[in-house]
Amino acid sequence: MAIQILPPQLANQIAAGEVVERPASIIKELVENSIDAGATRIDIDIEQGGCKLIRIRDNGCGIAKDELSLALARHATSKIHCLDDLEAIMSLGFRGEALASISSVSRLTLTSKTQSQSEGWQVYAEGRDMSAVVKPAAHPQGTTVEVLDIFYNTPARRRFLKTEKTEFSHIDEVVRRIALACPHVNITLQHNGKPVRLYRAVQADAQIEKRVASICGMSFMKNAMSLSWQHDDLSIHGWIAPHAKQEHVQYFYVNGRIVKDRLLNHALKQAFLENNSGGTYTTDELLGYVIHLNLDPHQVDVNVHPAKHEVRFHEARLVHDFVYQAVAMALTEHHQTLTFDSD
Ligand code: ADP
Ligand code: MG
Repeated sequence: MAIQILPPQLANQIAAGEVVERPASIIKELVENSIDAGATRIDIDIEQGGCKLIRIRDNGCGIAKDELSLALARHATSKIHCLDDLEAIMSLGFRGEALASISSVSRLTLTSKTQSQSEGWQVYAEGRDMSAVVKPAAHPQGTTVEVLDIFYNTPARRRFLKTEKTEFSHIDEVVRRIALACPHVNITLQHNGKPVRLYRAVQADAQIEKRVASICGMSFMKNAMSLSWQHDDLSIHGWIAPHAKQEHVQYFYVNGRIVKDRLLNHALKQAFLENNSGGTYTTDELLGYVIHLNLDPHQVDVNVHPAKHEVRFHEARLVHDFVYQAVAMALTEHHQTLTFDSD
């Protein structure tokens, strides 16, 4: 076969293989876009576990009419412009691939209005060359992305979708993770026309624990010790519960992004096993935590994997020891349990 450049839709479908695994991964990408757009309110509407419909509406900055079709193009992003920007990422997105990928494997419409525009506009991409069609549409300031019929044109991938219940539980988890990361954003989730989750925005820092409890469960918060420490450019805060009754309250964020990182897990586990009161716990199996680590974005590389679950720290040892110390300190010094008022 002769060498040829793939048509845009096929190139996007190949790229979609990396980020669009299931409805939950689409929701992750879209909600992250809303957060990056400065939204304070995000409403998520899904049908049939997201397989039939995903609609996400935000009140963020919106997308200007003349940039709407660009937003659907591959490698099109407003978040970085040069290599220097790539080395200091503060936004959740930067690859400029999500909308292109999602629209290549579903029927996607994007409707948006910026503050300076008097009316909203809508765009969708069609055909092999993904040419964009833009038309006027009523919309308040912000953006709505509607995704219908995931994988309708890639049957091999559609077969990997699980039951509605399973897909919903993945979505629920993605929304929980984001709700924990962004307590100041009001988030709702509606499934098949029924409201199923409401994460109210916290108005004051004092209410954050309430939001964490509503997401991780009261039993987590009741057992949790708070953790807070800062050193130079590194800061850490959060909660750790030595014996979380519910499993899977294990959330580690780096600069607002959830990560699964071996170095951080190791620091956490070691600190826990070496510093729990008199060695009561010999395993970290039931260790629950919600931890936010913030550092200079130059010190961490987030461009390691397309789904961005992994990161690399330039000074790995320093970060490891910092996390170890912070957790050890919380366990030894503040080992009285938080008194948490459930009201
Ligand atoms: P990335 O997030 O990596 O930049 P995306 O394909 O997810 O790439 O989005 C492309 C661009 O479209 C973004 O850079 C942003 O400018 C714009 N965009 C996408 N979603 C929204 C939104 N909800 N509100 C405002 N702008 C958005
Ligand atoms: Mg994005």
